[in-house]
Amino acid sequence: MRRLSLLIVFLLVIATGCAQQPRTKVQAQLAARPLVILVSIDGFRPDFLQRQRTPTLKALADEGVRAVAMKPAFPSLTFPNHYTLVTGLYPDHHGIINNRFKDPASGDAFIYKDRYSTANPHWWGGEPIWVTAQKQGLRTATMFWPGSDVAIAGVRPDHWLYFDGAMTPNERVDHLLRWIDLPLARRPQFLTLYFDDVDHAGHGFGPDSKEVNDALGTVDAAIARLVAGLRDRGLYDQTDLVIVSDHGSAATKPELRTYLDDVVPLDDVKVDNYGVVSTMTPKPGKEAAVDAALLKPHPHMSCWRKGELPARFHYGSNPRLPPIVCVAEVGGMISTHEYDRPGRHPTRGEHGYDNDAPQMQALFIARGPDFRRGLVLPEFDNVDVYPLLAHLLRIQGRPNDGKLAPLLPALREGSR
Ligand SMILES: [Zn+2]
Repeated sequence: MRRLSLLIVFLLVIATGCAQQPRTKVQAQLAARPLVILVSIDGFRPDFLQRQRTPTLKALADEGVRAVAMKPAFPSLTFPNHYTLVTGLYPDHHGIINNRFKDPASGDAFIYKDRYSTANPHWWGGEPIWVTAQKQGLRTATMFWPGSDVAIAGVRPDHWLYFDGAMTPNERVDHLLRWIDLPLARRPQFLTLYFDDVDHAGHGFGPDSKEVNDALGTVDAAIARLVAGLRDRGLYDQTDLVIVSDHGSAATKPELRTYLDDVVPLDDVKVDNYGVVSTMTPKPGKEAAVDAALLKPHPHMSCWRKGELPARFHYGSNPRLPPIVCVAEVGGMISTHEYDRPGRHPTRGEHGYDNDAPQMQALFIARGPDFRRGLVLPEFDNVDVYPLLAHLLRIQGRPNDGKLAPLLPALREGSR
């Protein structure tokens, strides 16, 4: 009996040992690939790096590559841009045209904070990189990312969670590290990590607040925990860390508010969204009157017919977009007198504005075996992150709106 127990222990040791080692040629090849971790710090403006709250991010930029700025896609909102980052497609092309919108055919609503409304794969056009990577034999894990809880093209990441805002930054890091600790055959090669603290503080207290600075420190500490965890596992120098944000943040100013009911009778239009980007449809018979009222210059708002937005927005062809799109001046909001009744506390920081505005610019830092050290890149468009990720993962990316060329200087000789 004792001999049998010893034999079982012996067999278990061998089995565990095998699980830690590549067993096939394919696994050996996979093991030779760097880990790629895509980190998003929602609402992180690149100048936040100068606030002395982010020593870890500064060290990563010094040891790797940083962009002066990364230009978000228009509208500079969270869901459209997170999905652009992982598809390389402009929102017009991937279909997540706003945080909230309606399907004109079915009337169904997409509401970013409602997981049941976003769960239908038909919303999510293109193919997120975790799906493409899995189809090409890689394993993936998402510690939150818009769309990663949806079976897009019938595929979810190997490991994923429903968004849980109560999970602290450190808990998110620890969860991600547990996935990295899986036996090699199950360990993901591509992982995402998402932090929302900076964006929350920006909305609540404004981008120049103490609360934003505190959130910068909290997120930086979580990234330090990730770096330490990778070092402990001997994986730090085999990991390409790509740290981005989806957009920046602008301080809101009450005097820049536009009350839509001062511009057009609200009985004449069906308004889908208020806020920074307001979209609407004239009611039948009211088209000419609504056009005349909206498509003229306004002090703190610009409106266009959907097909007539400036070409640089790459926005306006998607059938989900209502006929008229209005955008507030940076710092402004589009609202109504009824909504802004006394006692309501408006947000102190916003985004969604013109993606050329300096306050909307996003963060890009990359560090790892594929990247040069100490390089500062000029500004590039966030659609270019997707071809970079495909390159780092050594997979064939899907057709997209991005280009690797602006990021080639960031890559080491041997990686190009
Ligand atoms: Zn965001």
